[in-house]
Amino acid sequence: MTAVQSFDVAILGAGLAGRLAAWLLVRSGARVALVERAGPDGAGSAAYVAAAMLAPLAESAIAERRIVDLGIASVDLWRAWLAELAESAEPVFFQQDGTLVVWHARDRAEMSLFTSRVRAVAPPELVAQRLRALDGKGVGEVEPALAGRFPQGLLLAGEGQLDNRGALRALLSCAVSEGVHCVWEAGEVDAGSLPQLGIHADVVLDCRGLGARRAWPAQPGQTAQHSQPGLRGLRGEVVRVHAPDVKLHRPVRLLHPRYPIYIAPKPNDLYVIGATELESEDDSPMSVRSALELLSAAHSLHPAFGEARVLELNVQRRPTRPDHLPAIRVDQRTRVVRVNGLYRHGFLIAPAVTEAACAVVGALLNGDPAAHAVPAALRWPGMIEAVTEAPAHTVGARSGTLH
Ligand SMILES: Cc1cc2nc3c(=O)[nH]c(=O)nc-3n(C[C@H](O)[C@H](O)[C@H](O)COP(=O)(O)OP(=O)(O)OC[C@H]3O[C@@H](n4cnc5c(N)ncnc54)[C@H](O)[C@@H]3O)c2cc1C
Repeated sequence: MTAVQSFDVAILGAGLAGRLAAWLLVRSGARVALVERAGPDGAGSAAYVAAAMLAPLAESAIAERRIVDLGIASVDLWRAWLAELAESAEPVFFQQDGTLVVWHARDRAEMSLFTSRVRAVAPPELVAQRLRALDGKGVGEVEPALAGRFPQGLLLAGEGQLDNRGALRALLSCAVSEGVHCVWEAGEVDAGSLPQLGIHADVVLDCRGLGARRAWPAQPGQTAQHSQPGLRGLRGEVVRVHAPDVKLHRPVRLLHPRYPIYIAPKPNDLYVIGATELESEDDSPMSVRSALELLSAAHSLHPAFGEARVLELNVQRRPTRPDHLPAIRVDQRTRVVRVNGLYRHGFLIAPAVTEAACAVVGALLNGDPAAHAVPAALRWPGMIEAVTEAPAHTVGARSGTLH
């Protein structure tokens, strides 16, 4: 029989939100268990393949104002938290040198579309401060590797990026050294299956991303055909290459009517080229079409990508809610808090969203009868919701590996 260990909080899923929450909660004095179906390297999470660009202005071309505001708050949190993590873990590559946006001359209409969307969504003062039009000379000054290649560009100043895998490693390392108890290879866990793993927790925080799909019921439409899945996956494909001859310093977005791409430089001449966004739950390997499109677009940006070495062709699905916004749900009776819907902005917004989820967990632990009404609920109206869920049921947890 498995001996039972008691915790204040059991976190399900050690991806981006789960690791952030584990570190935040253990530092606040909670006894925390972190339970993950896979291993400690994070492979299997969307976070592991992400480009991890922190680009509130660039994302405003396709996102709502809420994402921009969460993103701005989160970039400040990342800066502070990564500095704290670096005190006891390997420093994580992080930069805020802006995003360069370019387009080929024939695609000029895409630039007008992009800027008009940004201006419609982002706060005007942010646009005034950060959106700078560049001529060809300016493009070359910002990114010498692209000198002479584009007659115009846009610099979105202050936008950031970080090393996703480094961040996952640092968060885990610091969480463990602060006392988080990890269970790896636990199988498909849900809130009801924790006793099988010998875990009793006062509160459960569900950070399983797309793995929590069954806990996010479909939203009814006018007819059964129109009902929308409460959580769905959006397939994204990225290529990781080693390209020592390219020498880009900041993320570059290439506007294109059919194949818009970004190229995010990582340490050691690595680049993440992405990303497709396909309305599909398919998680099979990357298609030839996607590989051709991504790599051709990168080659059209800079011919030295022709000699790059392809290290990985990655596929993951982004956990997405019908409104494409993040949500936190709290059931006061079952003491389960769920955070999800980080979609394509997880790195951009996870600090502010996870901080809010941890505040809800803290309120539950303190016996607050209205845990959904924490100050973060006022700051981010509509993001935190009180719900009453059907009783949890158990799905195939294994015995797990304890560390
Ligand atoms: C191709 C691609 C590119 C991206 N680029 C960016 C970007 O540039 N900038 C940005 O901000 N965001 C980006 N994102 C989005 C970001 O990666 C996600 O929003 C974020 O990782 C979601 O975090 P999460 O913690 O909710 O889920 P995940 O990171 O997916 O973590 C979920 C974890 O839960 C575990 N799990 C699932 N089910 C179970 C279960 N039943 N039991 C136990 N464990 C379970 C999984 O194994 C995983 O470890 C990108 C995503 C993709 C796919």
